[in-house]
Amino acid sequence: MNFCSNCGSPVVSAIPPGDHLPRFMCSSCGAVHYKNPLLVLGCVPQWEDRILQCRRAIAPRLGYWTVPAGFMENGETMQGAAARECYEEAMAQVEIGSLLAVVNVTHASQVHVMFRARLLAPVFAPGAESSEVELYAEDQIPWEELAFPSGDFTLRRFFADRAAGREDYHFTELARPLRP
Ligand SMILES: [Zn+2]
Repeated sequence: MNFCSNCGSPVVSAIPPGDHLPRFMCSSCGAVHYKNPLLVLGCVPQWEDRILQCRRAIAPRLGYWTVPAGFMENGETMQGAAARECYEEAMAQVEIGSLLAVVNVTHASQVHVMFRARLLAPVFAPGAESSEVELYAEDQIPWEELAFPSGDFTLRRFFADRAAGREDYHFTELARPLRP
């Protein structure tokens, strides 16, 4: 950040009184501009024994596969955001189910929250950010072509829980990128 979004004056990076981390502070109006982690919401939509996967049509990780997920918007619930992302990326309507995974992606200052979900009908199509959408059985998942480590973690826990007949939730931390 170079300029204050409040008044347009240059900002400086400094620790505000009573704080413990440097923030962008306006040299003119005194506004403090915080940058905090972002929430990414997603789901694993299931239809019978198969789950929905999207092939990314955009960077990063263009051409790789992912569960439908994206940044939460202001005013949304986590479940609402997960369902919206599924509709935007896969044109599929879901009922959001139990909490599946919370991935602290500390290297990117993001938290990824993933839910189980049920497809309301086997109706789907690529949204604007996807080039392909497919229903995959467990043995068809393109594990080597998954876009993000958080999605890999999510799917492995999903299938392990499903095989064991339970719906647990799982936490992990990704402190550094697993791939360049
Ligand atoms: Zn200002």
